[in-house]
Amino acid sequence: MKLEVVTIGDELLLGYTIDTNGAHLARELAGVGIEIVRRSTAGDDAAEIAAAVREALERTGAVITTGGLGPTSDDLTKPAIAAIFGRRMRMDEEILEKLKARWMARGWSGGFPKSNEQQALVPEGARILANNHGTAPGIWLEDERGRWVAMLPGVPREMRGMLADTLMPLIAERAAAGGETPVVRSRTLRTTGIGESNLADLLGDAARGPAGMPLAYLPGWEGVDLRLTARGLPAAEAERALDAGAATLRAKAGKWIYGEGATDLAAVVLDECRARRVTIAVGESCTGGMLGARLTAIPGSSDVVLGGVIAYANAVKVAQLGVRQGTLDAHGAVSEETVLEMAAGARERYGAGLGIAITGIAGPGGGTAEKPVGTVWLGVAADRRMEARRINTVGDRDEIRRRATQAALALALRTLRDETL
Ligand code: AMP
Ligand code: MG
Repeated sequence: MKLEVVTIGDELLLGYTIDTNGAHLARELAGVGIEIVRRSTAGDDAAEIAAAVREALERTGAVITTGGLGPTSDDLTKPAIAAIFGRRMRMDEEILEKLKARWMARGWSGGFPKSNEQQALVPEGARILANNHGTAPGIWLEDERGRWVAMLPGVPREMRGMLADTLMPLIAERAAAGGETPVVRSRTLRTTGIGESNLADLLGDAARGPAGMPLAYLPGWEGVDLRLTARGLPAAEAERALDAGAATLRAKAGKWIYGEGATDLAAVVLDECRARRVTIAVGESCTGGMLGARLTAIPGSSDVVLGGVIAYANAVKVAQLGVRQGTLDAHGAVSEETVLEMAAGARERYGAGLGIAITGIAGPGGGTAEKPVGTVWLGVAADRRMEARRINTVGDRDEIRRRATQAALALALRTLRDETL
């Protein structure tokens, strides 16, 4: 089944609100084999809303809208779409009573606002989609040819709730009645420490996706995600194709893959530590605690993470991590020698199994020809192993710090697994 999504709101066109509703709908519907073939956005303007929905209906006969169902003058979705279907608006007494009851139950002061009555206006012949998470009900409108529009609220929490509770079952019923079984399924493999073109070279024949499956390269500060998508197959076959595709990618690039789906590298490092009964201490300069924050953001990290030092000033590197002044004088704060002493110092200070350290130039100032902005040294100190790595990363200050933190986690993982780089 194919459908289109129209998201409604001036705030979306002006760029003040990111269209997360469109993204959520796409992901949820793809999971049950329904493909969104086009997404468009209209402002809070009845003519624009009507034009966008009419065109979408002509193409696919199935449209979901979000937004513009509220009680204020910018909420025009229902009458605009009712007009396309040639339906008049009527007051739904049941909805009105519910709205009033909800108002009273909240104990809000003043009478029930007249403008709220607008939420109880529905197009004639519409099916009401209950809103268990807010006030504005959703609307399902269908014509005699079976073409339909489902109108959902704009507030993301309400939209998601209504989709799950009410609309998904309705759409799934439609799709099943049409005898359709194919699904759209994706599998994401997460890599880090390797760029997308190197990854493509490494994958060779499989670079465009094994067995004709599309393979998307999705680079970000965490690394490059590889996403395989199977379309037009029944669910079990799609899963088998994805298993085979993922196995091919793992065989070729397994060294760089740390997980699937939304896996967080910090969580993988913590699991590896647990399996090996290793604790962690950190010493951070340019990342100012970001590594500690990444690790401790994972619930249950307290059995692995002991603590750390934000050693931003050289004096703190010396006093708190035992870095020698001579090392700083001879090699500088951003150097292999310093990062190794920081890692060893953090490990010793806290009696941890693994010390992880970061020192670098996050910019925008402070770069030199020899050590430009983005130069970062990462170090790990373990029982019988010390390792340092230099990365030359790019981006603004925030991105450099995030990339450095991710690279430090990757180095820690390889050290724990005793892999050489
Ligand atoms: P509305 O239902 O049009 O009154 O929208 C209510 C609120 O939901 C807006 O103020 C936005 O903050 C949010 N919103 C509306 N549409 C979207 C969307 N497509 N994605 C994310 N948030 C949205
Ligand atoms: Mg709006």
